[in-house]
Amino acid sequence: MDWFRKILRVGRVVEPAPDAPEPAVKPPEGVRGSLQIRHVDAGSCNGCEVEIGGAFGPVYDAEQYGARLVASPRHADALLVTGVVTRNMAEPLRNTVAATPQPRVVIACGDCALNRGVFTDAYGVLGAVADVVPVDVEIPGCPPTPTEIVAGLRSVTGK
Ligand code: SF4
Repeated sequence: MDWFRKILRVGRVVEPAPDAPEPAVKPPEGVRGSLQIRHVDAGSCNGCEVEIGGAFGPVYDAEQYGARLVASPRHADALLVTGVVTRNMAEPLRNTVAATPQPRVVIACGDCALNRGVFTDAYGVLGAVADVVPVDVEIPGCPPTPTEIVAGLRSVTGK
């Protein structure tokens, strides 16, 4: 029972959260505070995915700010899209957006998603994410750090 008494005595130990960032968008009704996110890799080098993994890991812990990854766009309020959009991924990306119920938010994560980044002249690239689907929030960086990703998500959750 010592461990139980210690839990009661110590409580939850976390670093204090930094101040919430300014809202990036006016979140749709019902999305603020609890954001279910489906990640879509539209043509990334996977550098952004490594940082997203860090953002949702125990150190940066995006879930404490109300952001949570889900396995299906049908369960999601938001899409977190990484990478340029390759020709093969344009239609799946459009279909994934269409499968995400309204209200929804599309978040472009990383320079490739924002402006094609280092893959600007690559032959298989159709465009940036905004060339294919409407984008509500942008998280710049190549790759963005977990802190920047968490800040971008907090700008939607408002926490
Ligand atoms: S922004 Fe950088 S890390 Fe992210 S997919 Fe593009 S090249 Fe890779």
